[in-house]
Amino acid sequence: MKEFNEILPFSTWFEDIETNHFLIAGPCAAESEAQLLNTANALKKTGNVHFFRTGVWKPRTRPQNFEGVGEEGLKWLQKVRQETGLRIAVEVASPEHVNKVLKYKVDLVWIGARTTSNPFSVQELADHFKGTDMPVLIKNPVNPDLNMWIGAIERFYNAGLRKIAAVHRGFYPFEATKFRNIPKWEIPIELKTLYHYLPIICDPSHIAGCPEYLREISQKALDLNMNGLMIEVHPKPSEALSDARQQITPGAFEDLISNLEFRSINSDNPLFLGHMDSLREKIDSVDKQIIELLAQRMNYVEEIGKYKLHNKVTIFQRRRWERILSSRKKLGKKLGLSEQFIKKLLQLVHKESISKQTEIMNRNKDEDENTY
Ligand code: PEP
Ligand code: MN
Repeated sequence: MKEFNEILPFSTWFEDIETNHFLIAGPCAAESEAQLLNTANALKKTGNVHFFRTGVWKPRTRPQNFEGVGEEGLKWLQKVRQETGLRIAVEVASPEHVNKVLKYKVDLVWIGARTTSNPFSVQELADHFKGTDMPVLIKNPVNPDLNMWIGAIERFYNAGLRKIAAVHRGFYPFEATKFRNIPKWEIPIELKTLYHYLPIICDPSHIAGCPEYLREISQKALDLNMNGLMIEVHPKPSEALSDARQQITPGAFEDLISNLEFRSINSDNPLFLGHMDSLREKIDSVDKQIIELLAQRMNYVEEIGKYKLHNKVTIFQRRRWERILSSRKKLGKKLGLSEQFIKKLLQLVHKESISKQTEIMNRNKDEDENTY
């Protein structure tokens, strides 16, 4: 399996940007030169932004929606870079877009969620960027399909690009949820576990779908050790031509960032390290006991399985299962553990117990009959 181990760490992508907490902000879409300059100047003043983002080609769900200003927007973006010194980033979805961003010397591109979902488009884009050192951020596909996300990263990696990062922007929900897109944090966590070298940044705007949840999601992303945030900022969000509901003003952006805790992955303070070691030793010891107890529990399960086989009794016993669930949930609650957690844990244990007993029922009966 590829490790993507030649991907360059985020902090080395640009000579003068050392931080690992990348902040990319700007409007969902470029609407006018004044709108871009206004937003960029205000963002520049916050001192918190490394990249100015905007969409000039917008992949819209319905064709009558605003689809972006096209090449004209790239000229405005060049002005933004000239006036503010901020680097510029746009979304690309076709080879024609690639030619244009290369022509206007855009500093970074991202691949949108809908594009990541289409391997033909991704391959075409990767082929067109071959031979350049364009930094590319790859948003997760619309569906929670980790392999498709990895596949898109792989296509750019195979084309020789080494400044590649993933963007977590949540997944399309099939049912009504609090967020516009379900975060499913386990997916970016799995991606990072598989590919340590891959930087991952979070796009809380498209997850939240509204300003209210931006802080909660941004903090969670930082606490999961993601490398930065991409946030949609518009001078007058309610008048925005796309994603009006989720954009925030430059002032709100400044508040948001100043209220976030940027924690480091580790500390070199010997007191901290010593105390962590001793706490981790305790956890190690408890984990060992949990596993030994689970093994002991499974021995009883096995014994019961054989006894049921002998007495021709079914494996699943609804009453007993209900009693187990309710008594354990009650005990857990008393000890400060959530009912949901205990339920999930027991379901896992119960599933394993049933499969153990099924195995017993199906194996050579004579062997077990002799035990009793
Ligand atoms: C965007 O960043 O404006 C965008 C279109 O995002 P996504 O591809 O995540 O929907
Ligand atoms: Mn948007």
